[in-house]
Amino acid sequence: MVYLDYAATSPVRPEVVTKIQQVLQENYGNPSSTYRLGKNAKMELMQARQDFANILGVDSHSLYFTSGATESNNWALRSQAHQARKLGLGNHIVASAIEHPSVKNVLKHLESQGFEVSYINPDASGQFKLTDFQAASKANTIGWTAMAVNNEVGAILPIRELGQAAKELGYWFHVDTVQAIGHLDWSFADLPCTSFVGSGHKFQAPKGIGFLVYQPFQKEMVLEPLLYGGGQEASKRSGTENIPYIAGMSHALTLMQADLDQVLKQHQDLSRYLFDQMDQTGIDYESNGDSDHQAAHIHNLWLKGIPASQVLIQMDLAGIYLSAGSACSAGSIQPSAVLQAYYPGQEDRWQESIRISFGRETSRADIDQFIKVLSELVHRKRQK
Ligand code: PMP
Repeated sequence: MVYLDYAATSPVRPEVVTKIQQVLQENYGNPSSTYRLGKNAKMELMQARQDFANILGVDSHSLYFTSGATESNNWALRSQAHQARKLGLGNHIVASAIEHPSVKNVLKHLESQGFEVSYINPDASGQFKLTDFQAASKANTIGWTAMAVNNEVGAILPIRELGQAAKELGYWFHVDTVQAIGHLDWSFADLPCTSFVGSGHKFQAPKGIGFLVYQPFQKEMVLEPLLYGGGQEASKRSGTENIPYIAGMSHALTLMQADLDQVLKQHQDLSRYLFDQMDQTGIDYESNGDSDHQAAHIHNLWLKGIPASQVLIQMDLAGIYLSAGSACSAGSIQPSAVLQAYYPGQEDRWQESIRISFGRETSRADIDQFIKVLSELVHRKRQK
């Protein structure tokens, strides 16, 4: 089996499984209980929160555990949009056009509630420009949102620059950092943003656990409660905490941080190797996205003349797993909105592009297998 779809999800590390199992079996108390077993569970939760916040470089009071990035994106965007409108600041939001559906569809929902959204497309060189965000902003603008790394093409967006400008303009700035956590060599500590989110299953923790960091530029912008109940998560998200998964996710981030430099080098090496091998096979291809601002772990390739659906079938038969576009929209026959934003009108390109994404376990041997199956497919097509 060759797994080349880490941007869709990643395997849980054995050490994380051990940690989760230990909490499940030994530290199963309810952290709200006052006896020792409960207190121990509370300690586990507090430790996990502190460790996690330390690695991210944020105040632990700004960290909320959630069920994943979809929930976190929903929560942060809706809360900030409504808060700003309540404060009379306006109702207009500026967003990159390549956001994940868990951002885009929230914005769509906000539009149905009277908000107005402007979308920024990449320029001809594939870059997102601060000047475009500034030009789209108006007197009633309240916030901007942009992802750190795009999940389909691996483009790195200029979120520091955008965040600094948003802060100066008095806007909130939300960042989806799902595909950046554990893959970029910069810290989130000094990221100028009011909120950012992540998802455990993208960095080798289980699915169904994630986080939101909320750190408003203006203190009037309070985070609206998501769930009312017993008052957990500082009364913002009630419900008994999923301590096994929270502890597991915190452990996964700790492990990831420990070999981040080595994994980054490995992915840079694998990227070079992939492109060298692609060149040697003589396959006619082009890289999609922004090659000047490209994360090393996600690549999107236009295989000219070969429908992605055919590639995926052949790969699947050979036990090689990768995606066309994002897994979240793979069930639909709609072409990728991200590729449409980058390459308007280029329908062939939308249909003939695949995504390959690396993780900690990816090796050159995996790429060899991928290249072998791809070469055979291209060869067969040429003979027809
Ligand atoms: N944002 C991005 C950029 C993603 O890649 C994903 C997962 N595909 C999400 C948000 C949603 O994360 P989750 O699966 O935790 O809801």
